[in-house]
Amino acid sequence: MKKVLFLIALVLGLFYFTIKPSLSAPYIIPNAPILNPGGSGNGAASNCVWTKVGDTKGDPDLSKCQAGSDFPSINGLTFPPNIQAHPTKKGYYSLPKSPTGAYKSYTCSGRSWGSMELIGVINTTAERWKAKYPNGWINVGDLNATGHKSHKWGRAVDIDATTNGKDWVADFTKGNYNREATIELGKLLADANMVRSIWYNDPRVNSAVLEYAKSTGKSAGMVMHEIVGHNNHFHLDIEIPLLTVWEPGC
Ligand SMILES: [Zn+2]
Repeated sequence: MKKVLFLIALVLGLFYFTIKPSLSAPYIIPNAPILNPGGSGNGAASNCVWTKVGDTKGDPDLSKCQAGSDFPSINGLTFPPNIQAHPTKKGYYSLPKSPTGAYKSYTCSGRSWGSMELIGVINTTAERWKAKYPNGWINVGDLNATGHKSHKWGRAVDIDATTNGKDWVADFTKGNYNREATIELGKLLADANMVRSIWYNDPRVNSAVLEYAKSTGKSAGMVMHEIVGHNNHFHLDIEIPLLTVWEPGC
């Protein structure tokens, strides 16, 4: 009898300690600790893990780790909900669909990865744009991607915008160009106080935005270049430590 009980205990023990955990463990460890700016924005890694697969029963409480309104702020930036750490590319995060429609991506998901700061600058600028122009939005092109000179360190993105779905902002190639709003977009980007450079070929826009940056002290060291191929979008670089070189395709 003792033997039988022992065997039952053994089987239950084996189930509990070996099989059950694999049934109830819905998480894989992506080896991609998120930046936890908690309070200081110092980029210290936390132990939060965002990648989730399979059965979600018995999820640990990740509420403090998840993006959204309570997501920790970096330099006053706001973040879209559900930004996700890349499973292997340390420091890279996906730009998710904007729940408010403040920005729309016109590239593929494979080219929508950047630093957390870049995601924050895009989201923050787009939300401020939307607040100013409720019928407008920002168009977001490639973040890290092949086929560019500098879209490879997590800090670059191509953008344009509209105030109403009818005009073009940061694009003077299609008619109905809105220069005033283009200057406004440059100022909103400067407000993020993290802009390193913007490449765009309207010198009147460039001088107005640079003057604003200098006078406000926000992104005060930023530069604006005219450069071939930049008639129809702002190329934006933000000032952050460079991430690992990565030029993904779609
Ligand atoms: Zn670019």
